Amino acid sequence: MDAYAPRFDNRLRTLLPGDPETGPRRREVRGAAWSEVLPTPVADPTLLAWSPEVAGLLGFDAASVATADFARVFGGNALYPGMQPWAANYGGHQFGHWAGQLGDGRAISLGELVAADGRYWELQLKGAGPTPYSRGADGRAVLRSSIREFLCSEAMHHLGVPTTRALSLVGTGEAVVRDMFYDGHPQPEPGAVVCRVAPSFIRFGTFELPASRGETTLLAQLAEACIRRDFPALQGQGETLLGDWFAQIAVRTAEMVAHWMRVGFVHGVMNTDNLSVLGLTLDYGPYGWVEDYDPDWTPNTTDAQGRRYRFGTQPQVAYWNLGRLAQALSPLFADVAPLQAGLAAFQSTFVACTRRDAAAKLGLSAASDADLQLYQRWQQLMHEGSMDMTLAWRALMRIDPAAPDAAVLEAVYYDQARRQAVQAPLAQWLQDYAARLRDDPLAAPERQARMGAANPLYVLRNWLAQEAIDRAEQGDMEGVEALQAVLRDPYTERDGLAHFAGKRPAWADNRAGCSMLSCSS
Ligand code: AMP
Ligand code: MG
Repeated sequence: MDAYAPRFDNRLRTLLPGDPETGPRRREVRGAAWSEVLPTPVADPTLLAWSPEVAGLLGFDAASVATADFARVFGGNALYPGMQPWAANYGGHQFGHWAGQLGDGRAISLGELVAADGRYWELQLKGAGPTPYSRGADGRAVLRSSIREFLCSEAMHHLGVPTTRALSLVGTGEAVVRDMFYDGHPQPEPGAVVCRVAPSFIRFGTFELPASRGETTLLAQLAEACIRRDFPALQGQGETLLGDWFAQIAVRTAEMVAHWMRVGFVHGVMNTDNLSVLGLTLDYGPYGWVEDYDPDWTPNTTDAQGRRYRFGTQPQVAYWNLGRLAQALSPLFADVAPLQAGLAAFQSTFVACTRRDAAAKLGLSAASDADLQLYQRWQQLMHEGSMDMTLAWRALMRIDPAAPDAAVLEAVYYDQARRQAVQAPLAQWLQDYAARLRDDPLAAPERQARMGAANPLYVLRNWLAQEAIDRAEQGDMEGVEALQAVLRDPYTERDGLAHFAGKRPAWADNRAGCSMLSCSS
Protein backbone atom coordinates (compact mmCIF):
# COMPACT_ATOMS: atom_id res chain seq x y z
CA MET A 1 0.00 0.00 0.00
CA ASP A 2 1.19 3.49 -0.71
CA ALA A 3 0.78 6.55 1.52
CA TYR A 4 0.34 6.30 5.28
CA ALA A 5 0.74 2.88 6.90
CA PRO A 6 -1.01 2.99 10.28
CA ARG A 7 0.14 0.78 13.15
CA PHE A 8 -2.26 -1.63 14.84
CA ASP A 9 -2.22 -3.39 18.21
CA ASN A 10 -5.47 -5.27 18.63
CA ARG A 11 -5.57 -5.54 22.40
CA LEU A 12 -9.18 -6.58 22.67
CA ARG A 13 -8.33 -9.74 20.77
CA THR A 14 -5.30 -10.54 22.88
CA LEU A 15 -6.93 -9.76 26.23
CA LEU A 16 -10.17 -11.65 25.68
CA PRO A 17 -11.17 -15.13 24.53
CA GLY A 18 -12.41 -15.38 20.94
CA ASP A 19 -14.85 -17.68 19.22
CA PRO A 20 -13.04 -20.74 17.79
CA GLU A 21 -15.24 -20.64 14.69
CA THR A 22 -14.54 -17.90 12.16
CA GLY A 23 -16.78 -16.47 9.44
CA PRO A 24 -20.31 -15.14 9.37
CA ARG A 25 -22.40 -18.27 9.96
CA ARG A 26 -25.18 -17.07 12.30
CA ARG A 27 -24.83 -18.70 15.69
CA GLU A 28 -24.98 -18.49 19.45
CA VAL A 29 -21.49 -17.70 20.67
CA ARG A 30 -20.81 -18.82 24.22
CA GLY A 31 -17.72 -18.27 26.35
CA ALA A 32 -16.20 -15.77 23.90
CA ALA A 33 -16.16 -11.97 23.62
CA TRP A 34 -15.62 -11.73 19.87
CA SER A 35 -15.71 -13.64 16.60
CA GLU A 36 -13.31 -13.26 13.71
CA VAL A 37 -15.18 -12.20 10.58
CA LEU A 38 -14.16 -10.25 7.49
CA PRO A 39 -16.12 -7.42 5.95
CA THR A 40 -17.97 -8.52 2.82
CA PRO A 41 -16.58 -6.60 -0.18
CA VAL A 42 -18.89 -4.18 -1.95
CA ALA A 43 -19.35 -3.48 -5.67
CA ASP A 44 -17.90 0.00 -5.91
CA PRO A 45 -16.47 1.59 -2.76
CA THR A 46 -16.53 5.37 -3.21
CA LEU A 47 -15.49 7.86 -0.57
CA LEU A 48 -18.44 10.23 -0.07
CA ALA A 49 -17.33 12.19 2.99
CA TRP A 50 -14.66 12.18 5.66
CA SER A 51 -13.76 14.04 8.81
CA PRO A 52 -10.44 15.90 8.66
CA GLU A 53 -10.42 16.11 12.46
CA VAL A 54 -10.69 12.34 12.94
CA ALA A 55 -8.30 11.64 10.07
CA GLY A 56 -5.84 13.92 11.87
CA LEU A 57 -6.21 12.04 15.16
CA LEU A 58 -5.41 8.82 13.34
CA GLY A 59 -2.53 10.18 11.23
CA PHE A 60 -4.19 10.22 7.81
CA ASP A 61 -3.47 13.33 5.75
CA ALA A 62 -5.59 14.48 2.80
CA ALA A 63 -3.36 12.66 0.33
CA SER A 64 -3.75 9.32 2.16
CA VAL A 65 -7.49 9.82 2.33
CA ALA A 66 -7.61 10.45 -1.41
CA THR A 67 -6.01 7.09 -2.29
CA ALA A 68 -8.10 4.29 -3.77
CA ASP A 69 -6.86 2.11 -0.91
CA PHE A 70 -8.55 4.32 1.66
CA ALA A 71 -11.98 3.91 0.05
CA ARG A 72 -11.36 0.18 -0.36
CA VAL A 73 -10.32 -0.33 3.25
CA PHE A 74 -13.14 1.76 4.70
CA GLY A 75 -15.70 0.26 2.34
CA GLY A 76 -14.75 -3.25 3.44
CA ASN A 77 -12.82 -4.41 0.35
CA ALA A 78 -9.25 -4.40 1.69
CA LEU A 79 -7.27 -4.33 4.92
CA TYR A 80 -4.21 -2.40 5.99
CA PRO A 81 -1.45 -4.64 7.35
CA GLY A 82 -2.11 -5.30 11.02
CA MET A 83 -5.91 -5.14 10.78
CA GLN A 84 -7.59 -8.28 12.16
CA PRO A 85 -11.35 -7.84 11.87
CA TRP A 86 -13.81 -9.05 14.48
CA ALA A 87 -17.42 -8.67 15.58
CA ALA A 88 -18.12 -8.25 19.29
CA ASN A 89 -20.49 -10.41 21.30
CA TYR A 90 -22.99 -8.73 23.62
CA GLY A 91 -26.58 -8.85 24.79
CA GLY A 92 -28.95 -6.22 26.00
CA HIS A 93 -32.22 -5.06 27.44
CA GLN A 94 -34.34 -3.67 24.61
CA PHE A 95 -37.27 -1.47 25.63
CA GLY A 96 -37.04 -2.86 29.15
CA HIS A 97 -36.91 -6.53 28.22
CA TRP A 98 -33.97 -8.88 28.21
CA ALA A 99 -33.23 -9.75 24.56
CA GLY A 100 -30.44 -12.33 24.93
CA GLN A 101 -27.49 -12.40 22.52
CA LEU A 102 -27.40 -9.46 20.09
CA GLY A 103 -23.80 -8.66 19.17
CA ASP A 104 -22.35 -6.68 16.28
CA GLY A 105 -24.81 -7.71 13.60
CA ARG A 106 -23.55 -5.22 11.08
CA ALA A 107 -20.54 -3.65 12.73
CA ILE A 108 -17.08 -5.09 12.18
CA SER A 109 -14.05 -3.74 14.00
CA LEU A 110 -10.97 -3.62 11.82
CA GLY A 111 -8.38 -3.14 14.53
CA GLU A 112 -7.01 -0.79 17.16
CA LEU A 113 -4.89 1.90 15.52
CA VAL A 114 -2.05 3.24 17.64
CA ALA A 115 -1.68 6.93 16.86
CA ALA A 116 1.63 8.79 16.89
CA ASP A 117 0.75 10.21 20.32
CA GLY A 118 0.27 6.68 21.69
CA ARG A 119 -3.50 6.87 21.86
CA TYR A 120 -5.46 3.81 20.77
CA TRP A 121 -8.44 4.10 18.44
CA GLU A 122 -10.67 1.21 17.53
CA LEU A 123 -11.81 1.51 13.92
CA GLN A 124 -15.19 -0.05 13.25
CA LEU A 125 -17.14 -0.34 10.02
CA LYS A 126 -20.92 -0.13 10.30
CA GLY A 127 -22.80 -1.80 7.46
CA ALA A 128 -19.90 -4.07 6.44
CA GLY A 129 -21.93 -7.23 5.88
CA PRO A 130 -23.07 -10.25 7.86
CA THR A 131 -21.47 -11.51 11.06
CA PRO A 132 -22.33 -14.39 13.40
CA TYR A 133 -24.57 -11.86 15.19
CA SER A 134 -26.64 -10.72 12.20
CA ARG A 135 -29.56 -13.00 13.11
CA GLY A 136 -32.07 -12.69 10.24
CA ALA A 137 -30.67 -9.42 8.86
CA ASP A 138 -28.24 -8.50 6.09
CA GLY A 139 -25.48 -6.68 7.97
CA ARG A 140 -25.84 -3.63 5.74
CA ALA A 141 -26.78 0.02 6.28
CA VAL A 142 -28.51 2.51 4.01
CA LEU A 143 -27.04 5.84 2.95
CA ARG A 144 -29.63 7.93 4.84
CA SER A 145 -28.89 6.39 8.25
CA SER A 146 -25.15 6.37 7.54
CA ILE A 147 -25.19 10.10 6.77
CA ARG A 148 -27.11 10.67 9.99
CA GLU A 149 -24.52 8.73 12.01
CA PHE A 150 -21.57 10.36 10.25
CA LEU A 151 -22.83 13.92 10.69
CA CYS A 152 -24.19 13.56 14.19
CA SER A 153 -21.13 11.91 15.73
CA GLU A 154 -18.97 14.77 14.58
CA ALA A 155 -21.56 17.41 15.46
CA MET A 156 -21.81 16.04 18.99
CA HIS A 157 -18.04 16.12 19.37
CA HIS A 158 -17.92 19.78 18.38
CA LEU A 159 -20.74 20.51 20.83
CA GLY A 160 -18.56 19.11 23.59
CA VAL A 161 -20.68 15.99 24.10
CA PRO A 162 -18.75 12.74 24.69
CA THR A 163 -19.29 10.56 21.63
CA THR A 164 -17.89 7.99 19.27
CA ARG A 165 -16.42 9.70 16.20
CA ALA A 166 -16.77 9.08 12.47
CA LEU A 167 -13.82 8.95 10.07
CA SER A 168 -15.47 8.23 6.76
CA LEU A 169 -18.62 7.60 4.77
CA VAL A 170 -18.17 5.25 1.84
CA GLY A 171 -20.86 4.52 -0.74
CA THR A 172 -21.05 0.84 -1.64
CA GLY A 173 -22.50 1.04 -5.16
CA GLU A 174 -25.01 -1.56 -3.99
CA ALA A 175 -28.67 -1.27 -3.13
CA VAL A 176 -30.01 -2.28 0.28
CA VAL A 177 -33.68 -3.18 0.63
CA ARG A 178 -35.50 -1.65 3.59
CA ASP A 179 -39.10 -1.36 4.70
CA MET A 180 -38.73 2.12 6.14
CA PHE A 181 -42.20 2.27 7.74
CA TYR A 182 -42.59 -1.44 8.47
CA ASP A 183 -45.76 -1.31 6.38
CA GLY A 184 -45.00 -4.03 3.87
CA HIS A 185 -43.48 -1.78 1.19
CA PRO A 186 -39.76 -2.58 1.06
CA GLN A 187 -37.73 -0.37 -1.30
CA PRO A 188 -34.17 -0.56 -2.59
CA GLU A 189 -32.02 2.27 -1.24
CA PRO A 190 -28.36 3.17 -1.77
CA GLY A 191 -26.03 1.45 0.70
CA ALA A 192 -23.11 2.94 2.64
CA VAL A 193 -20.50 2.09 5.25
CA VAL A 194 -19.43 4.44 8.04
CA CYS A 195 -16.12 4.00 9.82
CA ARG A 196 -16.72 4.83 13.46
CA VAL A 197 -13.83 5.56 15.77
CA ALA A 198 -13.60 5.33 19.57
CA PRO A 199 -11.16 4.10 22.20
CA SER A 200 -13.62 1.25 22.68
CA PHE A 201 -17.12 0.17 21.72
CA ILE A 202 -17.72 -1.91 24.87
CA ARG A 203 -21.34 -1.65 25.96
CA PHE A 204 -23.35 -2.32 29.10
CA GLY A 205 -24.70 -5.37 27.27
CA THR A 206 -21.17 -6.72 26.84
CA PHE A 207 -21.27 -7.62 30.54
CA GLU A 208 -24.92 -8.54 30.71
CA LEU A 209 -24.59 -11.41 28.24
CA PRO A 210 -22.01 -13.54 30.11
CA ALA A 211 -23.75 -12.69 33.40
CA SER A 212 -27.05 -13.99 31.99
CA ARG A 213 -25.36 -17.24 31.04
CA GLY A 214 -23.53 -17.74 34.33
CA GLU A 215 -20.18 -17.27 32.53
CA THR A 216 -18.50 -15.65 35.51
CA THR A 217 -14.95 -16.28 34.32
CA LEU A 218 -15.61 -14.45 31.05
CA LEU A 219 -17.39 -11.70 32.97
CA ALA A 220 -14.31 -11.20 35.17
CA GLN A 221 -12.01 -11.24 32.12
CA LEU A 222 -14.15 -8.62 30.42
CA ALA A 223 -14.06 -6.36 33.47
CA GLU A 224 -10.30 -6.70 33.79
CA ALA A 225 -9.71 -6.10 30.07
CA CYS A 226 -11.99 -3.08 30.05
CA ILE A 227 -10.21 -1.56 33.05
CA ARG A 228 -6.75 -2.18 31.62
CA ARG A 229 -7.60 -0.99 28.14
CA ASP A 230 -10.04 1.84 28.75
CA PHE A 231 -9.56 2.98 32.37
CA PRO A 232 -5.77 2.85 32.83
CA ALA A 233 -5.86 5.65 35.40
CA LEU A 234 -7.73 3.48 37.90
CA GLN A 235 -5.46 2.04 40.58
CA GLY A 236 -6.08 -0.54 43.29
CA GLN A 237 -7.16 -4.13 43.22
CA GLY A 238 -9.99 -6.55 43.64
CA GLU A 239 -13.39 -5.29 44.57
CA THR A 240 -12.11 -1.81 45.36
CA LEU A 241 -10.87 -1.45 41.81
CA LEU A 242 -14.07 -2.91 40.38
CA GLY A 243 -16.16 -0.58 42.51
CA ASP A 244 -14.15 2.46 41.42
CA TRP A 245 -14.55 1.34 37.83
CA PHE A 246 -18.31 1.02 38.10
CA ALA A 247 -18.49 4.44 39.75
CA GLN A 248 -16.49 5.88 36.84
CA ILE A 249 -18.94 4.37 34.37
CA ALA A 250 -21.82 5.87 36.34
CA VAL A 251 -20.21 9.31 36.53
CA ARG A 252 -19.40 9.36 32.83
CA THR A 253 -22.91 8.21 31.94
CA ALA A 254 -24.37 11.01 34.05
CA GLU A 255 -22.12 13.58 32.39
CA MET A 256 -23.08 12.32 28.93
CA VAL A 257 -26.81 12.43 29.59
CA ALA A 258 -26.54 15.87 31.20
CA HIS A 259 -24.96 17.09 27.97
CA TRP A 260 -27.79 15.55 25.96
CA MET A 261 -30.28 17.49 28.07
CA ARG A 262 -28.24 20.67 27.67
CA VAL A 263 -28.19 20.56 23.87
CA GLY A 264 -31.60 18.95 23.23
CA PHE A 265 -30.44 15.57 21.93
CA VAL A 266 -32.77 12.56 22.14
CA HIS A 267 -30.98 9.27 21.57
CA GLY A 268 -34.15 7.37 20.72
CA VAL A 269 -33.01 3.79 21.51
CA MET A 270 -31.35 3.76 24.91
CA ASN A 271 -31.27 -0.02 25.09
CA THR A 272 -28.45 -1.36 27.25
CA ASP A 273 -26.69 -2.67 24.13
CA ASN A 274 -26.48 0.95 22.92
CA LEU A 275 -24.86 2.38 26.06
CA SER A 276 -21.09 2.66 26.10
CA VAL A 277 -19.24 1.91 29.34
CA LEU A 278 -16.95 4.82 28.42
CA GLY A 279 -19.86 7.23 28.62
CA LEU A 280 -19.72 7.97 24.90
CA THR A 281 -22.86 8.62 22.89
CA LEU A 282 -23.09 5.44 20.82
CA ASP A 283 -25.23 3.99 18.01
CA TYR A 284 -26.85 6.86 16.19
CA GLY A 285 -30.13 5.50 14.89
CA PRO A 286 -33.56 7.13 15.22
CA TYR A 287 -32.17 9.98 17.30
CA GLY A 288 -33.56 13.49 17.07
CA TRP A 289 -33.09 17.08 18.20
CA VAL A 290 -35.69 18.87 20.25
CA GLU A 291 -37.21 21.80 18.35
CA ASP A 292 -40.51 22.91 19.94
CA TYR A 293 -39.57 22.18 23.53
CA ASP A 294 -41.33 19.10 24.85
CA PRO A 295 -39.94 16.71 27.46
CA ASP A 296 -42.34 14.04 26.20
CA TRP A 297 -41.07 14.07 22.63
CA THR A 298 -39.49 10.98 21.11
CA PRO A 299 -38.18 10.88 17.55
CA ASN A 300 -38.47 7.08 17.33
CA THR A 301 -41.76 5.84 15.84
CA THR A 302 -41.02 2.40 17.27
CA ASP A 303 -41.19 4.07 20.69
CA ALA A 304 -44.26 6.21 19.98
CA GLN A 305 -46.55 4.04 22.12
CA GLY A 306 -44.67 3.75 25.40
CA ARG A 307 -42.38 6.76 24.87
CA ARG A 308 -39.84 5.03 27.03
CA TYR A 309 -36.98 6.95 25.44
CA ARG A 310 -38.53 10.43 25.34
CA PHE A 311 -36.35 13.47 25.92
CA GLY A 312 -37.28 14.11 29.54
CA THR A 313 -36.84 10.55 30.79
CA GLN A 314 -33.32 10.03 29.45
CA PRO A 315 -31.68 10.52 32.87
CA GLN A 316 -34.02 7.98 34.49
CA VAL A 317 -33.43 5.50 31.68
CA ALA A 318 -29.67 5.88 32.00
CA TYR A 319 -30.03 5.15 35.71
CA TRP A 320 -32.20 2.12 35.01
CA ASN A 321 -29.60 0.87 32.52
CA LEU A 322 -26.84 1.32 35.10
CA GLY A 323 -28.97 -0.81 37.43
CA ARG A 324 -28.92 -3.59 34.82
CA LEU A 325 -25.14 -3.24 34.53
CA ALA A 326 -24.76 -3.34 38.30
CA GLN A 327 -26.84 -6.49 38.40
CA ALA A 328 -24.68 -8.05 35.68
CA LEU A 329 -21.49 -7.20 37.58
CA SER A 330 -22.79 -8.35 40.96
CA PRO A 331 -21.28 -11.87 40.69
CA LEU A 332 -17.87 -10.16 40.86
CA PHE A 333 -18.72 -8.56 44.22
CA ALA A 334 -19.09 -10.21 47.63
CA ASP A 335 -20.84 -7.09 48.85
CA VAL A 336 -23.12 -4.91 46.73
CA ALA A 337 -22.26 -1.70 48.61
CA PRO A 338 -19.74 -0.47 45.96
CA LEU A 339 -22.35 -0.99 43.23
CA GLN A 340 -24.89 0.97 45.25
CA ALA A 341 -22.31 3.70 45.76
CA GLY A 342 -21.79 3.82 42.00
CA LEU A 343 -25.49 4.24 41.37
CA ALA A 344 -25.55 7.04 43.95
CA ALA A 345 -22.63 8.66 42.12
CA PHE A 346 -24.76 8.77 39.01
CA GLN A 347 -27.46 10.69 40.86
CA SER A 348 -25.13 13.18 42.51
CA THR A 349 -23.15 13.74 39.30
CA PHE A 350 -26.28 14.31 37.26
CA VAL A 351 -27.60 16.81 39.80
CA ALA A 352 -24.25 18.65 39.86
CA CYS A 353 -24.05 18.74 36.05
CA THR A 354 -27.59 20.06 35.80
CA ARG A 355 -26.78 22.82 38.26
CA ARG A 356 -23.61 23.71 36.36
CA ASP A 357 -25.40 23.73 33.02
CA ALA A 358 -28.38 25.69 34.31
CA ALA A 359 -26.01 28.38 35.55
CA ALA A 360 -24.11 28.50 32.26
CA LYS A 361 -27.22 28.45 30.08
CA LEU A 362 -28.83 31.25 32.09
CA GLY A 363 -25.59 33.21 32.24
CA LEU A 364 -25.21 33.10 36.02
CA SER A 365 -21.95 32.74 37.90
CA ALA A 366 -23.50 29.86 39.87
CA ALA A 367 -26.98 28.40 40.30
CA SER A 368 -28.70 28.26 43.71
CA ASP A 369 -31.80 26.19 44.41
CA ALA A 370 -33.89 29.25 43.64
CA ASP A 371 -32.07 29.58 40.30
CA LEU A 372 -32.92 25.98 39.51
CA GLN A 373 -36.56 26.89 39.99
CA LEU A 374 -36.09 29.79 37.61
CA TYR A 375 -34.57 27.32 35.13
CA GLN A 376 -37.53 24.94 35.47
CA ARG A 377 -40.05 27.74 35.06
CA TRP A 378 -38.29 28.72 31.83
CA GLN A 379 -38.42 25.14 30.56
CA GLN A 380 -42.12 25.09 31.29
CA LEU A 381 -42.62 28.35 29.41
CA MET A 382 -40.70 27.00 26.42
CA HIS A 383 -42.99 23.97 26.47
CA GLU A 384 -46.29 25.75 26.98
CA GLY A 385 -45.38 28.50 24.54
CA SER A 386 -44.19 26.09 21.78
CA MET A 387 -40.75 27.70 21.68
CA ASP A 388 -37.84 26.33 19.67
CA MET A 389 -35.42 25.19 22.37
CA THR A 390 -32.22 26.17 20.56
CA LEU A 391 -33.46 29.57 19.41
CA ALA A 392 -35.15 30.41 22.72
CA TRP A 393 -31.95 29.89 24.69
CA ARG A 394 -29.95 31.96 22.21
CA ALA A 395 -32.58 34.70 22.41
CA LEU A 396 -32.07 34.95 26.18
CA MET A 397 -28.53 36.14 25.47
CA ARG A 398 -30.08 39.34 24.13
CA ILE A 399 -32.12 40.16 27.24
CA ASP A 400 -31.25 43.54 28.70
CA PRO A 401 -31.24 43.14 32.51
CA ALA A 402 -32.26 46.79 32.85
CA ALA A 403 -35.25 46.50 30.52
CA PRO A 404 -36.22 42.91 29.72
CA ASP A 405 -38.41 42.66 26.64
CA ALA A 406 -40.18 39.57 25.30
CA ALA A 407 -39.58 40.92 21.79
CA VAL A 408 -36.22 39.11 21.71
CA LEU A 409 -38.27 35.91 21.54
CA GLU A 410 -40.27 37.12 18.53
CA ALA A 411 -39.01 34.41 16.15
CA VAL A 412 -38.95 31.34 18.38
CA TYR A 413 -42.60 30.21 18.50
CA TYR A 414 -44.23 27.43 16.50
CA ASP A 415 -47.84 28.07 17.54
CA GLN A 416 -49.28 31.58 17.83
CA ALA A 417 -52.16 30.61 20.15
CA ARG A 418 -49.74 29.00 22.57
CA ARG A 419 -47.47 32.01 22.25
CA GLN A 420 -50.33 34.29 23.33
CA ALA A 421 -51.24 32.02 26.22
CA VAL A 422 -47.81 32.37 27.85
CA GLN A 423 -47.26 36.12 27.42
CA ALA A 424 -48.31 37.04 30.98
CA PRO A 425 -46.27 34.39 32.85
CA LEU A 426 -43.40 35.01 30.43
CA ALA A 427 -43.36 38.74 31.23
CA GLN A 428 -43.22 37.89 34.93
CA TRP A 429 -40.45 35.36 34.38
CA LEU A 430 -38.41 37.87 32.38
CA GLN A 431 -38.74 40.39 35.22
CA ASP A 432 -37.52 37.79 37.72
CA TYR A 433 -34.70 36.71 35.42
CA ALA A 434 -33.58 40.30 34.81
CA ALA A 435 -33.58 40.97 38.55
CA ARG A 436 -31.45 37.88 39.07
CA LEU A 437 -29.02 39.01 36.35
CA ARG A 438 -28.71 42.41 38.00
CA ASP A 439 -27.79 40.64 41.23
CA ASP A 440 -25.15 38.45 39.63
CA PRO A 441 -21.46 39.42 39.77
CA LEU A 442 -20.88 38.54 36.08
CA ALA A 443 -20.50 41.53 33.78
CA ALA A 444 -22.45 41.54 30.52
CA PRO A 445 -19.60 40.42 28.20
CA GLU A 446 -18.70 37.49 30.49
CA ARG A 447 -22.34 36.58 30.86
CA GLN A 448 -22.85 36.48 27.12
CA ALA A 449 -19.68 34.48 26.56
CA ARG A 450 -20.80 31.98 29.19
CA MET A 451 -24.24 31.63 27.64
CA GLY A 452 -22.82 31.46 24.14
CA ALA A 453 -20.63 28.53 25.12
CA ALA A 454 -23.46 26.55 26.72
CA ASN A 455 -26.26 27.26 24.24
CA PRO A 456 -25.47 26.09 20.71
CA LEU A 457 -26.94 27.94 17.76
CA TYR A 458 -26.40 25.28 15.10
CA VAL A 459 -27.55 21.73 15.83
CA LEU A 460 -28.28 18.86 13.46
CA ARG A 461 -31.99 19.50 13.17
CA ASN A 462 -33.69 16.45 11.71
CA TRP A 463 -34.89 18.33 8.64
CA LEU A 464 -31.41 19.73 7.98
CA ALA A 465 -30.06 16.19 7.94
CA GLN A 466 -32.93 15.20 5.65
CA GLU A 467 -32.15 17.99 3.17
CA ALA A 468 -28.57 16.76 2.95
CA ILE A 469 -29.76 13.16 2.59
CA ASP A 470 -32.16 14.06 -0.23
CA ARG A 471 -29.30 15.68 -2.12
CA ALA A 472 -26.88 12.83 -1.41
CA GLU A 473 -29.38 10.30 -2.72
CA GLN A 474 -29.24 12.29 -6.00
CA GLY A 475 -25.45 12.05 -5.96
CA ASP A 476 -24.77 15.54 -4.59
CA MET A 477 -22.64 15.53 -1.43
CA GLU A 478 -22.49 19.30 -1.04
CA GLY A 479 -25.32 19.33 1.49
CA VAL A 480 -23.37 16.99 3.75
CA GLU A 481 -20.22 19.07 3.36
CA ALA A 482 -22.08 22.27 4.14
CA LEU A 483 -23.48 20.76 7.34
CA GLN A 484 -20.06 19.48 8.35
CA ALA A 485 -18.70 23.01 8.01
CA VAL A 486 -21.55 24.61 9.97
CA LEU A 487 -21.60 22.05 12.78
CA ARG A 488 -17.85 22.19 13.28
CA ASP A 489 -18.39 25.46 15.16
CA PRO A 490 -21.88 25.24 16.65
CA TYR A 491 -21.62 28.08 19.16
CA THR A 492 -20.45 30.92 16.93
CA GLU A 493 -23.04 32.85 14.94
CA ARG A 494 -21.81 33.47 11.39
CA ASP A 495 -23.15 35.46 8.46
CA GLY A 496 -24.95 33.59 5.74
CA LEU A 497 -25.93 30.62 7.90
CA ALA A 498 -29.46 31.68 8.90
CA HIS A 499 -30.90 28.63 7.13
CA PHE A 500 -29.03 26.32 9.51
CA ALA A 501 -30.37 28.14 12.56
CA GLY A 502 -33.94 28.15 11.33
CA LYS A 503 -37.09 26.82 12.90
CA ARG A 504 -38.50 23.61 11.44
CA PRO A 505 -40.22 24.52 8.15
CA ALA A 506 -43.79 23.37 7.50
CA TRP A 507 -42.71 20.82 4.87
CA ALA A 508 -40.87 18.91 7.58
CA ASP A 509 -43.81 18.66 9.99
CA ASN A 510 -44.92 15.27 8.73
CA ARG A 511 -42.02 14.22 6.56
CA ALA A 512 -40.38 10.88 7.38
CA GLY A 513 -36.87 11.42 8.64
CA CYS A 514 -37.82 14.81 10.08
CA SER A 515 -40.60 14.43 12.59
CA MET A 516 -40.55 10.65 12.79
CA LEU A 517 -37.87 8.07 12.39
CA SER A 518 -38.01 4.33 12.42
CA CYS A 519 -35.29 1.89 13.46
CA SER A 520 -35.17 0.67 9.85
CA SER A 521 -31.70 1.63 8.71
P1 AMP B 1 -29.75 -1.27 17.00
O1 AMP B 1 -31.15 -1.12 17.46
O2 AMP B 1 -29.46 -0.62 15.67
O3 AMP B 1 -28.77 -0.88 18.04
O4 AMP B 1 -29.53 -2.82 16.70
C1 AMP B 1 -29.84 -3.85 17.60
C2 AMP B 1 -29.20 -5.14 17.15
O5 AMP B 1 -29.63 -5.48 15.83
C3 AMP B 1 -27.69 -5.11 17.11
O6 AMP B 1 -27.23 -6.38 17.50
C4 AMP B 1 -27.40 -4.85 15.66
O7 AMP B 1 -26.14 -5.31 15.28
C5 AMP B 1 -28.51 -5.64 14.97
N1 AMP B 1 -28.83 -5.11 13.63
C6 AMP B 1 -29.47 -3.96 13.32
N2 AMP B 1 -29.57 -3.80 11.99
C7 AMP B 1 -28.96 -4.88 11.43
C8 AMP B 1 -28.72 -5.31 10.08
N3 AMP B 1 -29.12 -4.61 9.02
N4 AMP B 1 -28.06 -6.47 9.90
C9 AMP B 1 -27.64 -7.21 10.94
N5 AMP B 1 -27.85 -6.86 12.23
C10 AMP B 1 -28.49 -5.72 12.47
MG1 MG C 1 -27.03 -0.97 18.60
